[in-house]
Amino acid sequence: MSHGVPAPVSDWDVIVVGAGPAGTSTALSVIHAGPGLRVLLLDRADFPRDKSCGDGIAPHVFDRLGRIGVTGIEEGWTPLTRLELARGSSSVARPMARPVYVIPREVFDARLVERAVAAGATLVRHRVTDVRATAEGIVLDGRYRAPVVVGADGAHSVLRGHLGLRDGRRALAIRGYAPTPSERRGTQVIRYGDRRQPSYAWAFDRGDGLSNVGYGELLPSDRTDDPPSRALLLDQLDRLLPGSVAAGDQWKAHHLPLSGWSWEQPDGPVLLTGDAAGLINPMTGEGIYYAVATGITAGRAAAQAFRAGNPARAGELHRRAVRALLGRHLKHTWTAARLAESATLVEGGIRAARRDARVFDELVELGLGDGRISRHLVGHLITGVARRTVPRTPLTRLAKGP
Ligand SMILES: Cc1cc2nc3c(=O)[nH]c(=O)nc-3n(C[C@H](O)[C@H](O)[C@H](O)COP(=O)(O)OP(=O)(O)OC[C@H]3O[C@@H](n4cnc5c(N)ncnc54)[C@H](O)[C@@H]3O)c2cc1C
Repeated sequence: MSHGVPAPVSDWDVIVVGAGPAGTSTALSVIHAGPGLRVLLLDRADFPRDKSCGDGIAPHVFDRLGRIGVTGIEEGWTPLTRLELARGSSSVARPMARPVYVIPREVFDARLVERAVAAGATLVRHRVTDVRATAEGIVLDGRYRAPVVVGADGAHSVLRGHLGLRDGRRALAIRGYAPTPSERRGTQVIRYGDRRQPSYAWAFDRGDGLSNVGYGELLPSDRTDDPPSRALLLDQLDRLLPGSVAAGDQWKAHHLPLSGWSWEQPDGPVLLTGDAAGLINPMTGEGIYYAVATGITAGRAAAQAFRAGNPARAGELHRRAVRALLGRHLKHTWTAARLAESATLVEGGIRAARRDARVFDELVELGLGDGRISRHLVGHLITGVARRTVPRTPLTRLAKGP
């Protein structure tokens, strides 16, 4: 053993910490934008590895990956076309404008890791604990150094801690796998609960006989309040989707860092993507699309800044690209999540979506990745709420007939 002799520092052009969807998309995008750049992908886990998730993958994910030449990740899995939303006695079930996939993260993430390695990234198993900015670049644990480092290390990001960014609101969710009952085949089911909003249970058919089932809710903003226990989360799941808990196994819970009104990325050579960047849709808990989309912009920004010999510009380039892509959408989802704190509005939205397919499609788009609150949606929400709250007076009864 060599006492006191530090291991030599290994030099890279770009280091990506975390090999989930954000990290692998970053690595693939760096190589796509800057062929020949040396990319190191560090992850504390061996792949394939499981990740607590609903496994619902929006079509936008495949659109983005396709643009950097990555196709066929969904091969062998069944597209899901139907979505059912329910709260109390209000419900709507309709085909979605575009299908989603439900692919276990153990499979999905490992496929992306394979692609990144095949494209030329070097994968090393290593848990990053220490980040230092030096004149020669960013040094991780005194062992790995690069002019640009991308934090794709998830909800408890070490790189986010290094940048000193505050965490926003968080949710906590648990998932398991259970056999799919015949009436739920080919469907994604979402049932809203009545605890701190957003709170809902889900059952997403994987198409192979099993469903991903789970429940999540917003965590208290006041940290003195107790977070929900595992028993409480499972209890809520069983109340909303009876029988799921007894039928399920492989329970695993995780935090969801929800996006806010605005999004921060400091200037400089350290970039954040996906959950590390606090990017999960606050209405639905979907984060894979944002992880892939911001991974791709980070990869492009890193390659561009590296080529220009000015790595410190990477942060600014990444911030601009993400704001152009998601800025307005994030404000609209923040607003929609606030509105969804009202049970009356959620039920009004469900009623409006039952009557009008376009409202349904717009709500799905807002929840998955790219949508906005349109005038059409607002108009129908108001009508949906009014239908419930306007009392049936003798006059309205007369107007409707017996
Ligand atoms: C229960 C639940 C259900 C969800 N359902 C959905 C859904 O249906 N659809 C959807 O789109 N989103 C869903 N999400 C959100 C989604 O899981 C995340 O947004 C997504 O995983 C973010 O990807 P990421 O690459 O940023 O982070 P992650 O997938 O968390 O990957 C981070 C990687 O970094 C590694 N890492 C962490 N720390 C270190 C370190 N210090 N050093 C080295 N490596 C490190 C980890 O091992 C991991 O591989 C759900 C989340 C939860 C908790």
